[in-house]
Amino acid sequence: MSSVTPPTAADEPGSNRAATLVVLGASGDLTRRLLLPGIGSLLAQEPDREVRVIGADRDERPDGDFDAEVRAALTEGGAGDEAVERVAAASSYLRTDATDSASLQRLLEAAAAPAPGTDAAEHDGERRVVLYFALPPAVTAKVCSALLDVDLPAELHLAMEKPFGEDEAGARALNALVARLVPEDQVHRVDHFLGMSTVLDIIALRFANRMFQAVWTGEHVESIEIAYDEALALEGRAGYYDHAGALRDMIQSHLLQVMALVTMEPPASITDRDLRDAKAAALRATRLWGGDATTASRRARYTAGTIETADASGERSERSVPSYVDEDGVDPARGTETLAQVTLEVANSRWAGVPITLRSGKALGVTQKHVVLTFADVRHLPSGLTGPDPKDRLVIGLNPDTMELRVTTNASHDPLGLAQSVMRADMRQASLRPYGEVLGGILDGNGMLTVRGDAAEECWRICDEVLAAWAADEVPMEEYPAGSDVPEAWGAALR
Ligand code: NDP
Repeated sequence: MSSVTPPTAADEPGSNRAATLVVLGASGDLTRRLLLPGIGSLLAQEPDREVRVIGADRDERPDGDFDAEVRAALTEGGAGDEAVERVAAASSYLRTDATDSASLQRLLEAAAAPAPGTDAAEHDGERRVVLYFALPPAVTAKVCSALLDVDLPAELHLAMEKPFGEDEAGARALNALVARLVPEDQVHRVDHFLGMSTVLDIIALRFANRMFQAVWTGEHVESIEIAYDEALALEGRAGYYDHAGALRDMIQSHLLQVMALVTMEPPASITDRDLRDAKAAALRATRLWGGDATTASRRARYTAGTIETADASGERSERSVPSYVDEDGVDPARGTETLAQVTLEVANSRWAGVPITLRSGKALGVTQKHVVLTFADVRHLPSGLTGPDPKDRLVIGLNPDTMELRVTTNASHDPLGLAQSVMRADMRQASLRPYGEVLGGILDGNGMLTVRGDAAEECWRICDEVLAAWAADEVPMEEYPAGSDVPEAWGAALR
């Protein structure tokens, strides 16, 4: 029987301690829609958690305005009344130009000072301060430069949103700048896919089951697909999306993180250091399939069409979507893709020769959010069994968390015929919002669910070659009608 050894103090850099979360970009979309409700969901699970929020940006806000926003967002996230009141009462807003050192100094002094109405002697001196960059990416590097001239609190943690840099060189430069501020284990590059309980499910599935551990190699796995295909179209987000596109928005960050978890070597422990080491090693070994971006990647954008969706109760509805290039705020000259696919190889002894396809797109008619391991055929099919022998597959659904094992069995009414049977499990639903899970780790000073600097650079290295080939028009821009499936020629694992 296996046993679980709790991490030792030396393995576990973080601890659940009172923390002050300073949000740069308090009025932004991310803060309002994801960060504050994320804390609400964390408080729903841990109502006694001691957290104080200080919002900062360049707005003039009347007294009480930010507290009211915090109160509403925490409630939306599911926090109980008592926790909402306690956290909202301790929250405050400070007008700040985050690119100005003096302004940042005032902000960080306020973060280190006792919260309004608390006893200074209690524990404020020990509070961990987390500075969260919910800022436009172009502002982030300027803020880091400005912080060089600020007296930083003793244990300052930095939480930085994606995109982390714009390419490998940019990520390296930003890492070098950040390293002048705080040690690496106090830097959290946020990828909310790592907050999904799905990620933890992948770890349990891979490393706590002998039957999967044995076959999780290129000896048995023929190909891997990691897809995140959405029905959502642009939904008014041209200002962000038209500069990013599907490759930067999804593959460069989220899907490569999932790939690292699926392909990494077994870590000795599920701790910050071991997990990040294992993921970084997998990313370092990753190359474009065949070493050529023109054959390893595809891109497309949607044309006008109708998307049919179903709500939670199964009620179906249709909506018409214009061509991507006709959406408000899109500049067709940018050539932004809304569907991207890249095939990679993790060139090590476990995975060499196994194509790993990452794909994500918008405005699709079939929403597939999954990891699919397709197994190789058996070496010898006993004669007498009559095919076709369908491929065995393990399908891990991403949010909601499901698992399907598609195996070959006898066809009914035909004892020697073959057919596919599907075993399905509904795994736990995420009890926390993804941002709640990630923030919980960051507030505890634990980087297990965030991205290390070297991994952030590797993710750009893997994508830079593709982006260069696309910029040089070496890969054609294909089209698909909104509401259609991924084009057949792209070879999706499931149709
Ligand atoms: P927004 O443009 O909505 O908000 C940006 C915020 O930054 C505003 O509060 C703005 O306020 C503030 N800001 C800008 N310049 C300064 C400055 N010099 N000093 C202080 N505050 C400043 O952006 P989002 O919230 O959408 O995105 C923030 C980050 O999160 C980005 O890196 C984005 O890529 C990432 N992200 C966003 C997601 C989303 O769904 N929105 C999802 C995943 C990641 P003001 O101008 O008043 O100062």
